[in-house]
Amino acid sequence: MAGEPQADCLFCKIVSKEVPATVVRETDTTLAFRDINPQAPTHVLVIPKVHYPDAASLAVAEPQIAADILREAGTVAADEEIDGTGFRVIFNTGSGAGQTVFHAHAHVLGGRGFNWPPG
Ligand code: IMP
Repeated sequence: MAGEPQADCLFCKIVSKEVPATVVRETDTTLAFRDINPQAPTHVLVIPKVHYPDAASLAVAEPQIAADILREAGTVAADEEIDGTGFRVIFNTGSGAGQTVFHAHAHVLGGRGFNWPPG
């Protein structure tokens, strides 16, 4: 059923605590934890506890939880003190865009400068 945990999903296993993660924030609907391969001094992933393959499908099915992800991204940035200098929130969507884990997630990156356009 839509939103239900998937047995083969790494991030569902992090939600269920089957796989450990360095959690920085948790709400009823979201979990935020440090990326295992950080691309910036701060690199936190914010995920919904429900399983949707990407942010776009989450937003269609559960718009309030999609909004929760954005709010939590801002709160993480404030907690990590990267909000003053600026930070990136990225939703890689589809393998062609670099998505490798097919459970919706926002990357929150900060603590260094960024280029535009992104690579
Ligand atoms: P994507 O490439 O946008 O799908 O992002 C997936 C992210 O998950 C990558 O930045 C990985 O480094 C990160 N990642 C993969 N496995 C783990 C883990 O076990 N804990 C924390 N982050 C992970």
